[in-house]
Amino acid sequence: VATVQKLNTKRSEEIFKEAQTLLPGGVNSPVRAFKSVGGQPIIFDRVKDAYCWDVDGNKYIDYVGSWGPAIVGHANDEVNTVLKAQIEKGTSFGAPCELENVLAKMVIERVPSVEMVRFVSSGTEACLSVLRLMRAFTKREKIIKFVGCYHGHADSFLVKAGSGVITLGLPDSPGVPANVAAATLTATYNDLEAVKELFAANKGEIAGVILEPVVGNAGFITPTKEFLQGLREVTQAEGALLCFDEVMTGFRISKGCAQEYFGIIPDLTTMGKVIGGGMPVGAYGGRKDVMMMVAPAGPMYQAGTLSGNPLAMSAGIKTLEILARPGAYEHLQKVTKMLVDGLLEAGRDAGHDICGSNISGMFGFFFCKGPVNNFEEALASDTAKFGRFHRGMLEEGVYLAPSQFEAGFTSLAHKEEDIKATIEAAKRVMKRI
Ligand code: PMP
Repeated sequence: VATVQKLNTKRSEEIFKEAQTLLPGGVNSPVRAFKSVGGQPIIFDRVKDAYCWDVDGNKYIDYVGSWGPAIVGHANDEVNTVLKAQIEKGTSFGAPCELENVLAKMVIERVPSVEMVRFVSSGTEACLSVLRLMRAFTKREKIIKFVGCYHGHADSFLVKAGSGVITLGLPDSPGVPANVAAATLTATYNDLEAVKELFAANKGEIAGVILEPVVGNAGFITPTKEFLQGLREVTQAEGALLCFDEVMTGFRISKGCAQEYFGIIPDLTTMGKVIGGGMPVGAYGGRKDVMMMVAPAGPMYQAGTLSGNPLAMSAGIKTLEILARPGAYEHLQKVTKMLVDGLLEAGRDAGHDICGSNISGMFGFFFCKGPVNNFEEALASDTAKFGRFHRGMLEEGVYLAPSQFEAGFTSLAHKEEDIKATIEAAKRVMKRI
């Protein structure tokens, strides 16, 4: 058994101790707190390319990428250059700017379902706005979501939700009014029959179906093509809207998002993360007749002081520009497949049950035999073992998402040598967990 390196995390510990007296749980977003993997969070000092450094000077190969935005690599030089230039022109206008048109055109051109778009400042905001829009357009109140999918923290979505709420065991949060939660119907992911049953039992009452077209918030789970196709057909037949929440998958699964990859066109799409290139941006868009309901074009109200912020638009434009260059998605697929294959092999060689996969620069693995087609099956994974693996990899200089129920992300800055080093580390760690 290899000796476990002891990380020096003295400064991280001091800072986190103080943070716990200032911020609930010491963090501003729950999954960061390392609750499910044990130990305490690493406090970051800086990031560059595929790496992050903590306040004690430890360097890590990073597979979180700020939870998705860092797809062209952290602190990318080209993105930084446009940001610096924009700072000189002002950081916030609260008035229209041409950059909004530029980013809107890029989104409309790439994303098959998007004919018009509204920019907001987070994925949560995009999803809660699209929820109101689905209800406004159909004049119906109920929605269907899937167990383990996460669509931000609006009341209606904190029903059997994924991500941090699963990790902390709080899938149904206190504070959500019972009548609000009752309007959210849930089904098992990849189970089309369950969706049809909900439509049959709630005839004419369902405004729409929202889902992660590839799940990243219950671990990494892929849809069957028949499931996506079936959702498209049943929503159309029932006069309900279909919304793909592409906050995580958008511009990551492919240039035209998961909807282009699977060839299924929803009515509405939410976006976030990549679209802001590391700045706070979200967006929702879709069919023009539906989007024309949004104020001031139509009566559905939604607004934002920082929406369309020029710094955020600049970072998003440059990021999407870099992603359009030849070979970008091929690189993401190549390094990520190599990573997942290596992790699975390292696990199996050490005698562990393990399964996993990737699409483009998004991946995941579970410590169970698999296959995993929904959150219920993901629960079979050995989360205590994942915790030991996570800690072991941290000690080896690899930063993974601190939960079994989160996807991992690579970037254009991840080189084959980073992947090889990660796999070598995984081989050592798999043997001692
Ligand atoms: N939808 C999905 C699919 C997400 O993964 C997330 C965040 N992880 C959100 C919505 C919420 O986005 P934000 O954290 O920017 O509010």
